[in-house]
Order: sequence, then C-alpha cells, then structure tokens
Amino acid sequence: MPSYLITGASRGIGLGLVQQLLKNPENQVIATARNPSSSKGLQELREQYPDSKRLIILTLDVSKPEDIKKAAEDAEKLLPGGLDVLINNAAILSNVLATVDEIDATEFMEELRINIVAVLEILRVFKPLVSKSTHKKIIAISSVAGSLELAPQYPAVGLTYAVTKAGVNMLARRWGKVYQNEGITTILIHPGWVATDMGLDGYEVLKKSMPKPPISVEESAIGIVKVIEETKFSDTVLFLSNEGTPIPW
Ligand code: NDP
Repeated sequence: MPSYLITGASRGIGLGLVQQLLKNPENQVIATARNPSSSKGLQELREQYPDSKRLIILTLDVSKPEDIKKAAEDAEKLLPGGLDVLINNAAILSNVLATVDEIDATEFMEELRINIVAVLEILRVFKPLVSKSTHKKIIAISSVAGSLELAPQYPAVGLTYAVTKAGVNMLARRWGKVYQNEGITTILIHPGWVATDMGLDGYEVLKKSMPKPPISVEESAIGIVKVIEETKFSDTVLFLSNEGTPIPW
C-alpha cells in the first residue's frame, strides 16, 4: 500500500491531491493541515472515507518545529513500512503585486520561512521514514516562477514568491544529489496555473500575460499524481510540470 503525506492539505492543490490519491484504493494518505477541523474539504473527505487507515488527518503547521516532530512521530507509528512519498505542498504568497520598492521585509521573511526553511525542517525530520519505504520519493511543489531561465518571460509580479521558489529548487537540487545514494528520488513539480486562492491572487494583472486561463485543481492534481506514479528512480533531481514536461532550471 503506497503511503503519502501531504502538507497544506486544507484547501487548494493540497486538498486536491488528497482527493485524487484516495480514489486509488491502494493508497494510504496522511493529510496534514495547520487546523484540520476548520477545513470543510478535509471534513467532507473524513465522512467519505471513514477508514482511519486509508485517510489519516494530522495537525501540522509547517512553521512549528514541535508540530513537525509530533507529526513525524505519529506517522512513524502508523507506517511500519516507512513513508513512500512526502509531498511538500504548503506555501504562502505575500503581496503579489508589490514592486521592488514596495516589498515589505517582514512579509518577505515570513515567505522565506514557510516556502523554504519549513521545507528543510520537514525534510530533515521525515527523511528517515522515507528512507525506510519502498518508493522513496520526496516531492516539492514548486513553480515556473522559480526558474531562473524563464524569469524574463514572466511579468513583474510575485517577486518575493519567485525568490522563495528558486530557493527551494536549489535546496532540493542539493539534497536530491546527496540522498540519491540512498535510493531517494527528488522531484520538483510545477502544478500549472491553478484556480486556487493563491492562483487567483493578482488574477486581473496576471491574465494579461498568461497564454491560457488557470486550470482546475482536479486537472492539476490528476497530472501531479501521474507524474509521481510514473517517475521511476532517478539519479538526477527532476523539475517537471503537472504534464510531465521538463521545466528549465
Ligand atoms: P492555496 O493558497 O490555495 O493553499 C495553500 C495551502 O498551504 C493551504 O492549505 C494553507 O493552509 C497551507 N499553508 C499555508 N501556510 C501553512 C502553514 N504554516 N502550515 C501548514 N499549511 C500552511 O495555494 P495552492 O493550493 O495554489 O498552492 C499549493 C502549492 O502549489 C504551493 O506550494 C504553491 O506555491 C504552488 N503553486 C501554485 C500555483 C497556482 O497557480 N495555484 C502555481 C505554482 C505553484 P491554511 O488553509 O491553513 O491557510
């Protein structure tokens, strides 16, 4: 039974991934959120999937090291065969329209904290459990916004967010190289432009320079799950879209 743990599963793409993964009766899913009881989507899934072995819901605020430690301890008890796939999905996007002059340093620090530093902390705590598993995959939901090569093609919005995604790309590229020796595959996935709270932030400005309208959460999640399932062991870190196409670094 492949096991998955997803951060930021209260809404948006994280919730969509949980919904999608549960459609396969083989999968065991640990959905984590900072406040699960206030997530309507997770409560509906709990009713739909009452089997507490197939869907496990844990509290995990990725900014709280004590939550990360507790979630890892709980996951370890629940998954004697290890955690097959760790999906770092939780992220924030602060003031998407801020110009260089308008960037608020405190907000920028918080974005760095959640989008990069928390990913590092989760990685460190959960890696032993991933190492024990059969599939051994670590995923970070990244973004084309984090591509240095594509940077000139994107509008001057979400500047600090783009910096955090470029940072998480570098972090994953480095850990991926080290952990490949233990058979761990690291994949960074761009989910597409997706109609979530985050995806629609700054929509009126963004839509002028985007070739296509945003896709649904379901379409994005179907693609992400396919990419995860179809990627065999890779000794290089992959940066792929939800359609499985390579994204330039
Ligand atoms: P949303 O803003 O819709 O959802 C963000 C999720 O992250 C929520 O579940 C939120 O939980 C959670 N989260 C935020 N802070 C924390 C925290 N401290 N601890 C735990 N969970 C937290 O975003 P999306 O679903 O659109 O984004 C998901 C991923 O996809 C992100 O990594 C994003 O950068 C990436 N992405 C999205 C794109 C898009 O077009 N939507 C495009 C490219 C990348 P809560 O409900 O508690 O706030």
